Amino acid sequence: MSEATSVLLFFGLPGSGKGTLSALCTQHLSYEQLSTGNLCREHIAKRSEIGKQIDFAIQSGKLVDDSLITSMVLEWFTQNIAQKRVILDGFPRTAIQAQGLDEFVKKAQNLKPLLVQLTIAEDVVVDRLGARRTCSNRSCQAVYSLAEGSGLMPLVAGQCDTCSSALITRRDDETAAIKERLKLYRAHEQALLDFYAGAGYPKLQLEANRPIEQVFEDLKQHLVKI
Ligand SMILES: [Zn+2]
Repeated sequence: MSEATSVLLFFGLPGSGKGTLSALCTQHLSYEQLSTGNLCREHIAKRSEIGKQIDFAIQSGKLVDDSLITSMVLEWFTQNIAQKRVILDGFPRTAIQAQGLDEFVKKAQNLKPLLVQLTIAEDVVVDRLGARRTCSNRSCQAVYSLAEGSGLMPLVAGQCDTCSSALITRRDDETAAIKERLKLYRAHEQALLDFYAGAGYPKLQLEANRPIEQVFEDLKQHLVKI
């Protein structure tokens, strides 16, 4: 049997640092991030059978079927068996997708999933997201944070480091919108966590209200051990 493939599934509220942590894992631990959104776009661009069906669903204003997304991700796994470290991004989104992945994991036997749950108080996240600024240049959209210790402060206040355009607060990052987003997110995440509690996957909980480098260090220590 071939060496096991480590598969990380991140959980945590928006603003808990999932994106930054994934980026650190790809930069320093040679993980590959499998983005469902990008994979969809690739399939559409190359007009694959899955791509055509996804395109059709989008064109007709329908939600892309869970089973379609699941088979797309599982096909990727089958074709990339040499990939030893994978972060799933945007998948699974629903309990049905999680179930599809679970059946595959059980059959494949060499996939070692780990749930990484970033725990953080909601008011901390509201503050963090409220401190978020986005580059107004549509082709840049770099993200900054005015929160202390975030490591994401712009060099010049109110200005993008990369393209010098003005930084703005996105409508999504205004307090009322943030609270609504968190509510929706919690409901959606709970459905997945309930599924995984039943499936008995190993889970690592990390306190996310501290500098992201420390959170990453803890994750790294854990990954070395398994
Ligand atoms: Zn910019």
